[in-house]
Amino acid sequence: MQITFWGAARTVTGSCFLLEHEGHKFLVDCGMFQGNKALKQRNYSDFPFNPAEIDFVLLTHAHIDHSGLLPKLCKHGFKGNIWATEGTVDLCSVMLPDSAHIQESEVEQKNRRLLRAGQPTIEPIYTMEDAAKTLTLFKGIKYHQLVKPAENIEVVFYDAGHILGSSVIQIKYTEAGHEQIVVFSGDLGRYEHYILHDPDNIEKADYLVMESTYGIRFHEEEKSKEDLAKIINDTFKRGGNVIIPAFAVDRCQDIIMHLNSLVEAGLMKQGSIYVDSPLSVKATDIFCDHPEYFDEDTKALAEKYGTCPLKTKNIIFSETTEDSIALNKVKSGAIIISASGMADAGRIKHHLRHNLWRPESTVLFVGYQAEGTLGRRLVNGEKIVRIHGEEIDVKAQIVALDGYSAHGDQTEMLKWLSNIKEKPQNIFLVHGEESAMGQFAEIISQKTGIATLIPEMGESYKLNDLAHFVEKQKLAIDESGDMMELYLDINQQISQMMRAKEWQKLFDIKEFLHKIS
Ligand SMILES: [Zn+2]
Ligand SMILES: [Zn+2]
Repeated sequence: MQITFWGAARTVTGSCFLLEHEGHKFLVDCGMFQGNKALKQRNYSDFPFNPAEIDFVLLTHAHIDHSGLLPKLCKHGFKGNIWATEGTVDLCSVMLPDSAHIQESEVEQKNRRLLRAGQPTIEPIYTMEDAAKTLTLFKGIKYHQLVKPAENIEVVFYDAGHILGSSVIQIKYTEAGHEQIVVFSGDLGRYEHYILHDPDNIEKADYLVMESTYGIRFHEEEKSKEDLAKIINDTFKRGGNVIIPAFAVDRCQDIIMHLNSLVEAGLMKQGSIYVDSPLSVKATDIFCDHPEYFDEDTKALAEKYGTCPLKTKNIIFSETTEDSIALNKVKSGAIIISASGMADAGRIKHHLRHNLWRPESTVLFVGYQAEGTLGRRLVNGEKIVRIHGEEIDVKAQIVALDGYSAHGDQTEMLKWLSNIKEKPQNIFLVHGEESAMGQFAEIISQKTGIATLIPEMGESYKLNDLAHFVEKQKLAIDESGDMMELYLDINQQISQMMRAKEWQKLFDIKEFLHKIS
């Protein structure tokens, strides 16, 4: 078996691993790169392999950084099956068309700008039609069910406890007469968390490809109910709203459960809780359609309420654009949960535009904020941000609560690792920020004695006895399309500095250009 790392290598997003064994080629995940411009640019480049030659895909879960380039794979000739749990299939059925819609409208905007500048236009990465075609290739399975997607390859999906349907994937194959097992952690969830089960224990792995998002971090204790209630009640007292950017899948449902419990406990002044994101509304429906994934506490709540615990009377789902626009007029007493979770797309941007400048409002971050996103800039304390081309003074309270993550922290990841009965010979660390991965690799090696590697983009390893480095292939970045946009951005910023007569900044730029050219 040979593995090549084509994404989430020394970065968090873009999960994509190419596996080759006895003439079969398959992928684990085919995710989109998210974050800064250079990362996003990779989504526009050709795949470094021929999609038509890929026999099948195993998908760990529905998050776009794992599934988001599947429609592009189909657009370029992939015709095999995509194996995933039934929960993942259902979530993808709303998330991939949503992602296609975002691609189409972003490119439309970019093209308007390129046309105005007399530059050639670009094509969307994929369209709604590609997404619809992709959905026909899915094969839904259950946890612990044995599947044989190709001869001599056996696969089992285990519960990763991260989002609905999320999986740890175990792949068994025979190499020179010996049975070997490679395990992909996917994104690992939390222990004793809301709604879902704990991550499953794995019996055996010879090789492990493991995520490391929170490799050197420890989640704070979740704010006590009282603390969270205080943040909300204080905001209402000041006459503001609480805006919560939340990923449509999982984070949103977690927060609903949390807020519900505050209302039930009588801790929160009865405000109105709005879920304002069409995708969040659909994802919540899918959660409610799959009570088999709920943990015991959530099942008990469902029984108590006689309905899905995510759809109690306290929650108002705003479906139409009119509902959403009406929310912009609400000055006080509203909790608005909206997507995207990193505040760089979707309806949340409207709510931020209407509330960020108001000292009486609060913006509550409850998820991971990748470098380069609006969410990260706000959490970092930036005082002026641009939304829809408009500069906004940040006066609202910015609160980042870290305890709500859907990713296990260092303690939880090490716990999951130590629960593997027959330990791997090698661990490949992926899906993390480069600056933190070395340190986490060292901690793993110290605690377990397992050799831990941090592969770079395009590196291949042969998995026999130990992981052997084979080669590093270069990823060709397509510089024609989206890079024009980068040029226009730089141009625009320089023009702004000219208009503002920021001569020192311009001299600095000139000096910098001299240095690097
Ligand atoms: Zn995820
Ligand atoms: Zn992920």
